[in-house]
Amino acid sequence: MQTKEIKILVTRYENLEELITTDRELVLAARQIAETAYAPYSKFKVGAALILDNGQIVKGSNQENAATPAGVCAERSALFWANANFPNSAVKAIAISAVDQSGNRALHLSPCGICRQALLESEHRFKEPIRIILDSRNNIEILNDVESLLPLSFNGNSLTNGNNKF
Ligand SMILES: [Zn+2]
Repeated sequence: MQTKEIKILVTRYENLEELITTDRELVLAARQIAETAYAPYSKFKVGAALILDNGQIVKGSNQENAATPAGVCAERSALFWANANFPNSAVKAIAISAVDQSGNRALHLSPCGICRQALLESEHRFKEPIRIILDSRNNIEILNDVESLLPLSFNGNSLTNGNNKF
């Protein structure tokens, strides 16, 4: 028997002013685009802003549907738009922010499992780590890559016993 310990690094900042300029811009963009969310069911408005390696910033918000699976999260809304319009550009970082129905920023924010999987695919596709910036009410947490959010993940290698070029 073997036990494997998996560690992740999370850097916590107390306020926006501590961030580097690009990260700060992404957080502000995520907060702004959260206002465009269509969230009549959850009343939880989420915004995501990512920056590509060409410097382009792409934003998305959650778009809900009465038939729940037909909706999409803010992260995938931004990611898929970026991948469709800039198919050769790697995502360098993504900031995520949200406000609840009282208008307060979410107490603690983290991408859902499906978005983690989608972001991981992008990270593998371009072989570039995607920095994750989580804008919660009392702090901002940054992770260095998507792998940190999804250890022991399923990926392209899982389909072919590691014998592929993903
Ligand atoms: Zn999601």
